[in-house]
Amino acid sequence: MNSSNQYSRSDFFKSAGVMAGAAAMAGTGAQAAEGMPRESGPELRQLGKTDLRIPVVSLGTAPAQDVNVMKFAIAQGMTFIHTSTSYKKGVAIKNVAEAIKGQRDKVVLGLKITWAPDDDAAMDAALETLGVDSVDIAFFNIHKADQVRDPKYRLGAERWKKAGKFRYIGLTTHKEAAGCLKAALDEGFYDALMPSYSLSMEEEFLPIFERAHKENLGIILMKTHKNLTGSEFEVTPHYLATTGVATINRGVASFPDIKKLIEASKAPLDEQAGIRLRESAQVSMTGHCRMCGECEAVCPQGFQVADVVRCSDYYLEHSEYVETAYETYRGLARTPSPSACGDCNLCERACRNGVPVVHHIRRAESVLT
Ligand code: SF4
Ligand code: SF4
Repeated sequence: MNSSNQYSRSDFFKSAGVMAGAAAMAGTGAQAAEGMPRESGPELRQLGKTDLRIPVVSLGTAPAQDVNVMKFAIAQGMTFIHTSTSYKKGVAIKNVAEAIKGQRDKVVLGLKITWAPDDDAAMDAALETLGVDSVDIAFFNIHKADQVRDPKYRLGAERWKKAGKFRYIGLTTHKEAAGCLKAALDEGFYDALMPSYSLSMEEEFLPIFERAHKENLGIILMKTHKNLTGSEFEVTPHYLATTGVATINRGVASFPDIKKLIEASKAPLDEQAGIRLRESAQVSMTGHCRMCGECEAVCPQGFQVADVVRCSDYYLEHSEYVETAYETYRGLARTPSPSACGDCNLCERACRNGVPVVHHIRRAESVLT
């Protein structure tokens, strides 16, 4: 049994029953009528220029979500779900397939494309695993700005859209994110952007979000609760007040946390709390990686330095992501071997967050192999 044990069965059935009634009256997710009041559940927002209306808090599936928790979240109105074949060795996407069985019309489905933009077999296999012919929005998963500019992505998006594999295309990124988002805006064919984001990144990202908003691209924030232990729910209204943001997409592991997240999304914006949370986010990012990729750019050995730091950080700081740390580290193309690291310290000197990069490299090699 999962953490649903923390929430009483009577509470669960009461809430689920109320929401099932509300959903039946109002419609949910993609089908919800414009302007129709919802008795409860999160507010719906239009995702940029798409016709998708998605809840302001939505489900991410890395690490994999329990099927019953997902069903509960959908009943509560968290009707946008994003998944990937890469999360938890394929378990996550299978759980999503199970959770949406019989209620595909109630959810907006997002799928991360972790394969080449001409790999039809991989695309078809992912859709088959999900048990659907198409998803509402797919996201290219790119972490280098110059790769975003590669014309093969535009061609892939056009071809797959035409073939009905998805209706809209987005870009998701967690490394060199600012550069990748700017490049995606320049490319002009994206419908939505989904970066890793924290309050501590506002200064750099707000101008990008403002441009995206002007150009009518939807913004989906992910990994927003990283390094915000204790205030991860309180911070929700502040993210939702950010220009252009349609939803916060995050994994929620338990029934009570779903309720807390939805409630947090409805809380009024407290400006004093905002000042405190921003200060705290800045402090908590000291020594923590924000995946800017600057260390990687200066490494004479060409290591995927930022990815190694990310794995080590997951392992040390985020117990729910330990398995992800192992999987990601195993999946890194580590050529040359990390043992070839010459301790030149250029990576650490390039890091504006004071991350002990070389220590992370050593530790990743000793605990994640
Ligand atoms: S370790 Fe520092 S320089 Fe490297 S990606 Fe993280 S924050 Fe950027
Ligand atoms: S210390 Fe190692 S990882 Fe860092 S820049 Fe030098 S060779 Fe690259």
